[in-house]
Amino acid sequence: MPKKKDFILIGVLLVIALIGLGVTQFLQHQTGASVTITIGGEIYGTYPLDQSRTIEINDAKGYNKVVIENGSVHMADADCPDQYCVQHAAIHAGHETIICLPHELVVEITGGEVSDVDVVTQ
Ligand SMILES: [Zn+2]
Repeated sequence: MPKKKDFILIGVLLVIALIGLGVTQFLQHQTGASVTITIGGEIYGTYPLDQSRTIEINDAKGYNKVVIENGSVHMADADCPDQYCVQHAAIHAGHETIICLPHELVVEITGGEVSDVDVVTQ
């Protein structure tokens, strides 16, 4: 028969594990700080996530309109045939991406110190 103390120990370990998981997710959530746009594997530009702006990209592949507002990024417009990038939900956390495959364009949230909490309170 397991002793009552063992159950308490298991409970404590479980709580520690859950807290650890929560902290990890929280930290991952806080890493989003800049927006990097890559076209055909080359960096087109990097922009701070906490400053609203519209980036219009017109190149040989086509047209994309990336909008940064309220600490998140979305593809407002594009002339690609599939429109997947336009339909993609806005991104705001570390290493999330919006990819426009026909235009070989990737919008990625890259690391930094600005947290979502700061963005929300601004
Ligand atoms: Zn697209």
